Amino acid sequence: MDARATPAATATPQDAQHRIVIVGGGVGGLGLATRLSESLGRTGRAQIVLVDRWPTHFWKPLLHEAASGQIDPATHQLQYAVQAQRHGFEFEQGELAALDRANRVVTLNALHEADGREILPARQIAFDTLVLAMGSVTHYFGVPGAADHALPLESVAHAEAFRRKLLDACQRASHARRMRTRQADVPVSVNIIGAGATGVELAAAVRDTVRLLNRYSPFSLDPVRDFHIRLIESGERVLPALSETISARARRMLDNLGVEVLSGTRVTEVRADAVLTSATEPLPGDIAIWTAGIAGPPVLRTLDGIAVNRNAQVQVDRTLQCTNDANVFGLGDCAACPADQAGAFLAPRAQVAHQQALFLARALKCRVAGQPLPEFVYRDAGTLVGFGREGTIGNLGSSWLRQPLFVDGWFATAIYKLIYRRHVMTLTGFARMAIDTASHWLRRRVHPVIRLH
Ligand SMILES: Cc1cc2nc3c(=O)[nH]c(=O)nc-3n(C[C@H](O)[C@H](O)[C@H](O)COP(=O)(O)OP(=O)(O)OC[C@H]3O[C@@H](n4cnc5c(N)ncnc54)[C@H](O)[C@@H]3O)c2cc1C
Repeated sequence: MDARATPAATATPQDAQHRIVIVGGGVGGLGLATRLSESLGRTGRAQIVLVDRWPTHFWKPLLHEAASGQIDPATHQLQYAVQAQRHGFEFEQGELAALDRANRVVTLNALHEADGREILPARQIAFDTLVLAMGSVTHYFGVPGAADHALPLESVAHAEAFRRKLLDACQRASHARRMRTRQADVPVSVNIIGAGATGVELAAAVRDTVRLLNRYSPFSLDPVRDFHIRLIESGERVLPALSETISARARRMLDNLGVEVLSGTRVTEVRADAVLTSATEPLPGDIAIWTAGIAGPPVLRTLDGIAVNRNAQVQVDRTLQCTNDANVFGLGDCAACPADQAGAFLAPRAQVAHQQALFLARALKCRVAGQPLPEFVYRDAGTLVGFGREGTIGNLGSSWLRQPLFVDGWFATAIYKLIYRRHVMTLTGFARMAIDTASHWLRRRVHPVIRLH
């Protein structure tokens, strides 16, 4: 057992230093660790430990830009060890494997090099308060072949895998056209399964990328004739979670981009070279990617009886406490948090994770001080969907607006970009965010706008 794993079962919020362990350094978890360190950590009232399976943080809503090669993820990653040193929390790299609720201890798997050599042994960390902020995994809904043949888009590694396949397919097709082989007339095709915001944004980003690739001879293709993008959606319209007006407008923008939309089409099987559906002939494809649903990480089902729903998300109440353990909190995608009295739950969105992190940063101060916990109230600030060069559309919400305000054009694009900048500012402060923004602006003037290798 790790030296820090002294059983904490006797520790109460008032006695020895309260230890808050946050598992998952994503949109919610890293924001929370940073905030708590600046309040409870700095005043010595609590010790904050952040656990993540990776050494670096990447803002997930940028994944479609990484997958299409429009940004270099390495330049947008934030190292947990550096953030921990700057803000005064502890960082422990490892994957959560088990929870002992009675003794308040989590166990992390051993960490290995690529060749299998152990870097760190399995470890245990004691806690007084545990926050589960582990995000989500792709939900394939048991569709045959989907997990084997459709890429997920959950991490930088997945984005890189998609980008490599995209470049390889373009290079192969470009060569076939130059050599006038039998394959010369077959377009490269990408099947994107799920026309929610992630699928729609990815389709638009890929279209932009193929246009840009056309400049470089090894990859040059006619962006529309030689490259086919299909968006397959089981619902009756794209962006089913948004209003019909936004959905109709999105559909027109996808048509302008030359993206084929198959709505009301349920995927029944995914094969290595085709997607089978309920409504069409098999749809041939060089790449299939699944953006149709999420579930909580499977390990949550094994955590000492912690309450989870059918989707493997931790069941929490409005204090974000797990419904069957007051020492365990859940936030972000991995938590099922009530949205209203009618039994609806909050959607898995960065905005929800961000607001819950800010809320818990305040609520855990109350907990450490032995005061009653407040309840979380979500305020929907709206949704923006980016279509690359076609622009951005969406709605903005506010307590002083009677109904969400539809936005598009440069205003919507500016706000869309500001959302990421605000995330960077939350983590690094205004000065570092400004320098980072300037360095990315300069970088785009010096480096190719698309990653070729
Ligand atoms: C391509 C894409 C585009 C998106 N665009 C938008 C958007 O425009 N707007 C929006 O609101 N939302 C968007 N989302 C959704 C948004 O990214 C998520 O809702 C948000 O990231 C959830 O935050 P989180 O903190 O719950 O989890 P995450 O940000 O996913 O972080 C989870 C962290 O937990 C770690 N972890 C997981 N399992 C373990 C384990 N066993 N042990 C240790 N660590 C673990 C992971 O490494 C990760 O760092 C998008 C998602 C994707 C994939």
